[in-house]
Amino acid sequence: MTVFAAPDYDGHEHVSFGYDPETGLRAVIAIHNTNLGPAVGGCRMWSYTNDQAALSDALRLSRGMTYKSALAGLPFGGGKSVIIGDAKTEKTAQLMQAMGRFVESLGGRYVAAEDIGMKVSDMDEMAKVTKHVTGTSATSGNPSPFTAYGVLRGIEAAVEHRLQRNDGLAGTRVAIQGLGAVGFDLARRLHEKGARLHVADINTEAVAKAVDMFDATPVNAGEIHAADVDVFSPCALGALINDDTIDAVQAKIVAGSANNQLSNDSHGTALAARGILYAPDYVINAGGIIEIAHGPDFGGTHDDAEIYAHLDRIHDTLAEIFQRADVENAPTNRIADTMAEERFQLSV
Ligand code: NAD
Repeated sequence: MTVFAAPDYDGHEHVSFGYDPETGLRAVIAIHNTNLGPAVGGCRMWSYTNDQAALSDALRLSRGMTYKSALAGLPFGGGKSVIIGDAKTEKTAQLMQAMGRFVESLGGRYVAAEDIGMKVSDMDEMAKVTKHVTGTSATSGNPSPFTAYGVLRGIEAAVEHRLQRNDGLAGTRVAIQGLGAVGFDLARRLHEKGARLHVADINTEAVAKAVDMFDATPVNAGEIHAADVDVFSPCALGALINDDTIDAVQAKIVAGSANNQLSNDSHGTALAARGILYAPDYVINAGGIIEIAHGPDFGGTHDDAEIYAHLDRIHDTLAEIFQRADVENAPTNRIADTMAEERFQLSV
């Protein structure tokens, strides 16, 4: 296994490998950068095909958290942990406590949050042995409505910039891919603003509900990216802007909650070349971590007014990214990365 030469290694400060013989825990904690504060990021449990794949995921995701928190204006660095195993069949309370002890061994440089394969009850088990965990039953809320509000504010910023509209979203045509926890709440908020919705989900019940409640137009799940609309809002899968889909996108704006929307960075360049304004995913979908940052685990009171004021800054940050992208004639994903680096690299 290679670490420093691994393709996803990017100057990470710290990488730890944890093993517990009693429970069989095998886990990696990666801390990318702590210039802005402790490295906060999800703990993921996944059946990785091999150890290198687990390490790659921890390296890649922890780096992403540094960028996300920096642009969200949070006093957090970037970290992520992965447990190697099947969350459905191999997860036990003892395994989670062993993971908690592993997190504790880093003395607070890394704070674990919920991620794929984790539930609030798992965070509770970890919390029995470490205080460096967030999203327990004592403190956690449901981040999705906050994420959806941040996406709404991001769509507003994009419509103002790309469509030169400052009179709200009434009549704006938005295609939403995925009507899950975020997508459905976003649909509700957009409908309240007078937007005209096109929706797709592999869950036909969710689609029927949106048609009924929001007068939305149902679209085939395989064709939603090509809908003739103003805004395409991916709220389901990652890598949905790829070689097979990019040419079919008709929207002038791509702005949604999904993580890692671009199959790779070059797709950001290709969107820009086609005059499509892309709201970088980690900027527009930061609502969840912003909510966590205002909670009791980080000394806050979870005050709604404070959280929403912070979420409104997603609009302003995106407006700045769009402006700079125009001035520098560069793709928005590249500008977002540069702005994040300016914040966390200069903060030492
Ligand atoms: P979710 O699982 O509740 O919803 C996802 C929805 O997408 C489901 O309804 C699912 O049926 C649908 N879907 C799956 N494959 C599809 C396809 N091929 N076409 C159309 N629909 C499909 O997840 P969520 O919490 O709403 O998150 C949505 C996205 O936003 C994810 O990429 C997630 O990582 C990201 N995100 C979520 C949050 C949050 O606060 N929940 C925060 C940041 C990022």
